[in-house]
Amino acid sequence: MPEGDTIYRAARALGHVLEGKVVTRFEAALAPLPSVDDGTPVEGRTVEKVESRGKWLVIHFSDDLILVTHMRMSGSWHIYRVGERWRRSRGEMRAVIATTDYEAVAFNVPVAKFYTARTLERSSTIPKLGPDLLGAEFASDEAKARLLEHGDEEIANVLLNQRVMAGLGNVYKSEVLFACSVHPFRRVNTLTGAEVDCILERARRFLEANAKDGDAGMVTYTGLRRTTRAADPGARLWVYRRQGKECRRCGTAIRMRRQGPGARSSYWCPECQPEPVEMR
Ligand SMILES: [Zn+2]
Repeated sequence: MPEGDTIYRAARALGHVLEGKVVTRFEAALAPLPSVDDGTPVEGRTVEKVESRGKWLVIHFSDDLILVTHMRMSGSWHIYRVGERWRRSRGEMRAVIATTDYEAVAFNVPVAKFYTARTLERSSTIPKLGPDLLGAEFASDEAKARLLEHGDEEIANVLLNQRVMAGLGNVYKSEVLFACSVHPFRRVNTLTGAEVDCILERARRFLEANAKDGDAGMVTYTGLRRTTRAADPGARLWVYRRQGKECRRCGTAIRMRRQGPGARSSYWCPECQPEPVEMR
């Protein structure tokens, strides 16, 4: 992970190699990490999730232990295969999370702290997640208010912002916007109230339906007969990864463009989701 990389990308890259893996070794060289590790060892826990919250990188371990780091200007996380030579000196190492295959090494990270779910929730420095779309008492009004705070931003980027609403990933981002006939590059302040309501409603509905489906794969488009989970997942979606293919509604070729932090892929139908005026 090169320096200057965004915290968002760092979280994705770390999540890719660490999530679901058991920590085989943990080292720390920055107070107060070692003393906490003595009392509640990280080794043996599973990495459940890596996420970014603002400028903070948040690593969730099993049994309620959370490591939070801030890179400031100097810090960075590197990922190495076990046995691979580090590109920084050992003296710059502040923390190592090792699994069977990888070592994630924090170099020169100036701030690092352990939390529990409860202390993290109480912290005033670490940003909170937005309302959970799958939460039992999903606060639609709150999600709407948070969404509208990002008026100048493109809707597809805002949907991925977990502080606005938690739970929506890159696949559903495109699917939800197609379902509501909203172009992914529209700015939030150009959306009508009905469009905003549609987006929130669909986001929740897609997630709920698919949470029940378990590992059957994500489904938004059910016009075709449902097939087994071995089938091409693209056959069950409206636009995601269907670049160049015919829109299931109108036959126009689906488009894809990279968008926002991390250059995430956005898919849309140029006919069903009219372009914002400034792009024409
Ligand atoms: Zn279309």
